[in-house]
Amino acid sequence: MTDKKKIVDIVNNMYPEIVGIRRNIHQNPELSGQEYKTAELVYNRLKNLGLDPVYYLEKTSVITPVKNGAGKSVILRADMDALPIEEKSGLEYCSTSRGVMHACGHDMHTSILLGAASLLLQMKHLWQGTVHLLFQPSEEVEPGGAYTLLSGGHLPKADSIFGLHVNTDHDTGTVGVKDGLDFAGITAFDVVVNGKGGHGATPEVTVDPIVCASTLVIQLQTLVSREVSPFVPVTLTIGEFKAGSQRNVIPDQALLHGTIRCHSRELLEKLMNRITEMVSATAQSFRTQAEVNFLKTFPPTNNDPSIAAHFASVFESIVGEGTAIIRHNPSMYAEDFAFYQQILKGVFIHLGVRQKNGTFNGSGLHSSSFIPDEEAIRTGIIAHFCYVMSELGIRNESEI
Ligand SMILES: [Zn+2]
Ligand SMILES: [Zn+2]
Repeated sequence: MTDKKKIVDIVNNMYPEIVGIRRNIHQNPELSGQEYKTAELVYNRLKNLGLDPVYYLEKTSVITPVKNGAGKSVILRADMDALPIEEKSGLEYCSTSRGVMHACGHDMHTSILLGAASLLLQMKHLWQGTVHLLFQPSEEVEPGGAYTLLSGGHLPKADSIFGLHVNTDHDTGTVGVKDGLDFAGITAFDVVVNGKGGHGATPEVTVDPIVCASTLVIQLQTLVSREVSPFVPVTLTIGEFKAGSQRNVIPDQALLHGTIRCHSRELLEKLMNRITEMVSATAQSFRTQAEVNFLKTFPPTNNDPSIAAHFASVFESIVGEGTAIIRHNPSMYAEDFAFYQQILKGVFIHLGVRQKNGTFNGSGLHSSSFIPDEEAIRTGIIAHFCYVMSELGIRNESEI
């Protein structure tokens, strides 16, 4: 039996068990920074495989080395947190935790990396060195689990790092690969508008923060449409607007929570300055007081071109020609994986989870009806293995 056939057989054999793990995680989602049960499940599984996992960040993170002789080392990373969304997928294994859902596919990422651990252990004759399996918490909220692990000095020493994210741009069985800039950098910002509350019948004796904040929502969009070239991708989104408690009461305060996403640090800084100026000038024109607070930013992800090309070629030689789709445009999603890439070379890829038979419901990431195709678990496990082969392989991929 060829090694290629053996890899496929091992993955097919473990598939039902890994799907079981994924569904268990899906049914028991945990918010960012609270991934205690998920981390425990991961820890126990790795221990049962004979590995030596270690908990970090108050038991919300697990890291283990898989050692296989002397040589280079790589990190394979998965994130484990869920989102504050009420699931409406209608799945029989839907979330049992009210208002919390794995709507970003991190349940897929976690179970896939556990599957990759088993495959690596069973195919040790194809690679040499050390693979660190890193399960991180809190990807969805600033400053991000990657940043916290790094600032705690917990990142293992390695030559490069690999990660993936489910993506409905691509069919199941394929991966999307982009060299250079891929995911956007993101900065979250909060605007507080302070006015003077009072009765809705006498607006002339109040200073209405809602009218000012509403104007800001529209005005801030002009930074994108009027101050940045149409050829440069930027998004500015106000996703939260909080003000008021009753129809006839003008409140004292309005709050806006937003994000800016783009692919360059210079542009990000320019937009941050302009947001500050615009908020201040608009607040003054409405007689309100306002301030902007910029939260921790995620830098853009930046994939090493030669590592990405080598990964894509190994992946195609094992999975089939045309299965590593070259992406030409960066995405506007953001990833705290970018923090690792500021220290280590590496690649972050897009795992296709769009069902090929046309049953994809059209709901994307962060939707209450998001349903990634579970079949992609097979491709995800193999993708991790292909990365190890491309960096630590002891045989040319054409000989496998
Ligand atoms: Zn997400
Ligand atoms: Zn995500």
